[in-house]
Amino acid sequence: MWQGKAEIEEQNEENFEYNPAEIDFMLLTHAHIDHSGRIPKLYKDGFKNKIYAHKATCDLCALMLPDSGHIQEMESGWKNKKRKRKGQAEIPPLYTAEEAARCLQIFEPVQYDEIIEITKDIHVRFNDAGHMLGSSIIEIWTKEDGKETKTVFTGDLGNNDIPLLDSPTMIETADYLVMESTYGSRLHLRNDEKAELFLNIVSETLDNGGTVVIPSFAVRKNTRDLI
Ligand SMILES: [Zn+2]
Repeated sequence: MWQGKAEIEEQNEENFEYNPAEIDFMLLTHAHIDHSGRIPKLYKDGFKNKIYAHKATCDLCALMLPDSGHIQEMESGWKNKKRKRKGQAEIPPLYTAEEAARCLQIFEPVQYDEIIEITKDIHVRFNDAGHMLGSSIIEIWTKEDGKETKTVFTGDLGNNDIPLLDSPTMIETADYLVMESTYGSRLHLRNDEKAELFLNIVSETLDNGGTVVIPSFAVRKNTRDLI
């Protein structure tokens, strides 16, 4: 799901460039709404097969997707009020809370570290990605014409040595690697350096009579801006 300015979010309404009914199965790395938010639309447009995801991802999606539907309904309500005033036709929401609740039945919860047989020729394993609760690096083994190929799909990756979350699992081998690269162009600070930098900013701001505002990433119901 696209999030941001209106022009960017308009892309959520676009049709998929393939027939959703032809998808055999989905592997979902984690619950963040930019990764999961258009699953209800995919379901509505014909995808009715299984979505494999870690148990925690399934539990989170069960809260977040209907809530996202609720937000779509509210937003479309506002937009349609404006459209009505201009004499334009109403546009239905991307999906409703009820439609989002319907797609939950195709979620198939899995655990970390277990090899799962999807078909005789496709096996997968979910590994802890350390990015959020339930986040997974997925190893996929596919057999074609007697030859086995291993593809690793990292999804969003976490950091090493941070509180609350485990470090991302080390994957030893891959024939192909599909990787998140959001922060690929810069070096992260070491964690102990981060803490010192943070304390310096707080004390400097307070010394100057300022106010410290700490934004925090969170997954929660009813506040889209915090997802
Ligand atoms: Zn994420």
